[in-house]
Parts: sequence; structure tokens; C-alpha cells
Amino acid sequence: MLLFIWYLLIFVFGLAAGSFLTAYTWRWPRGISIAKGRSICDNCKKKIAWYDNIPLFSYIALGGRCRNCGKKISLRYPLIELSTGVLFVLTITLLGGFGRLGELGFLLTAYYLLLAAVLIAIFIIDLENQLIPDGLVFLIFTLNVSLLVLSSDKNFYQIMFTGFLSAFFFLFLNLVTRGRGMGLGDAKLVLALSPILGYPQTIVWIFLSFIIGAVVGLLLIAVGKASFGKHIAFGPFLVIAFFITLFWGDLLVNTFLPYLG
Ligand SMILES: [Zn+2]
Repeated sequence: MLLFIWYLLIFVFGLAAGSFLTAYTWRWPRGISIAKGRSICDNCKKKIAWYDNIPLFSYIALGGRCRNCGKKISLRYPLIELSTGVLFVLTITLLGGFGRLGELGFLLTAYYLLLAAVLIAIFIIDLENQLIPDGLVFLIFTLNVSLLVLSSDKNFYQIMFTGFLSAFFFLFLNLVTRGRGMGLGDAKLVLALSPILGYPQTIVWIFLSFIIGAVVGLLLIAVGKASFGKHIAFGPFLVIAFFITLFWGDLLVNTFLPYLG
């Protein structure tokens, strides 16, 4: 029972973080400060009351429509809130949080939840605007390298070398496609995230991101939502593949790339 309450708390915390991310990812590309005032309805411009601004629940209670003008509220609000809530619970569970009672500890738990929130923001902003904010990438790069140094990992050089080599591979793709196939933001994101995964998980992560990218790209072409030669943001694939590798990396290495381990 106590465990259930913990999970519920983390889920609700995730919904609240998701609500912040919904606003942040909308405002950042438009140059609007996150500190600037309360949310308004996109249609009638009326300020949204606090009781109509409760993550997920208000959307359900209002039947997905603005209380004032009745205009449909974008699905991105409940989707981002729900995804953040679910990812927070998954992160805690799969990385050995409450399920194995506090294996992570408070600081590491906070660190992974912050990382999850930043990566959701990168996922959304890249998906909607085809760009990855340098500030967010720099934040995770600094956190990850600091953590690596503090943990005095004996494989420090190997981990950093894997990261730089992988980022160089993305830089190379960026140069040969003249920025059309791969953005420079993707190369920076690879460098920033690789210290968490290290070797050989970083290799698995990159393979996986290309596999997911190819499958999703072909599906989008099949349903007529994309065409060959048209740019599709790669950041979202890196983010999805990162979490799969973070959660099940050892299993993936042992199954598919045993000779790397
Ligand atoms: Zn309205």
C-alpha cells in the first residue's frame, strides 16, 4: 500500500512536470519567457482558472474543450502530461527505485527525473521545430560529466572516448549531408548523453536510434506523411532509443552484440 502511494506521488509529480513542459516547449521556440504570466486559451485569450489548469484531470473534466469558448484544447497538453507521468514512474521502477526500495537514493532519483524531463522537452521541441536547444544539451552534458567524474569510474577515458567518437560520427553525417540529413544538435546530444551509457551501450543506443528512425520513417512514407529526401527530426529517435538502452541496455548487448561486451 505504501509502495502504491509512492508510485502515485511520482505519477502526479510527473503530471505536474509535464504541465510545465507543455508550456515550456510551446513558449521556448516562440521566444516567450516561461515566467511570463498564466496560461490563456489560444482561441478566446481568456485566462485559464487554476481549477481548469490541473494536469490531465482538467482536460478530462472539460471534455477536451475550453470552458469559455468551447474550442477544442490541443491533444498535446494531456499527451505530454501523461507521457511525463508514465516516464517518471518507469524511470523509478526500472532503474531500481521504489520497486527495490531506494536502491537509487534521493540524489540519483532526482537526477534521472530531471534528465527525463529535459529529454522530453528536447523530444517535443525537435519534433515540432526541427531544432535542439543548446542550453538543454549543455545542461545534461554538464550534469552527466560531473556525475561521471564524481563516481570516479575507472573507465572514464573509455567512456569519454566512446562519446566523442560517436558524436564525431554524427558530425561526419552532418558534414556529408550538408546539414540536411543530420543536424548538428544531434551530434551534440550524442556527446551529452553518452557518458551515462558508456561503452558498449552507447553503440547499441546509436544502432537502435537508426533502426527506430528507419522503421518510423518508412511507416510515415507508407501513410503519406513524409517523403524520401524530406527532413525528419532525428532527436526524437535518439531520445526513445536512449531510454530503451538505459532501461534494457545490458539485455540488448548480451542478446545482439555479445562480442562488444
Ligand atoms: Zn477559449
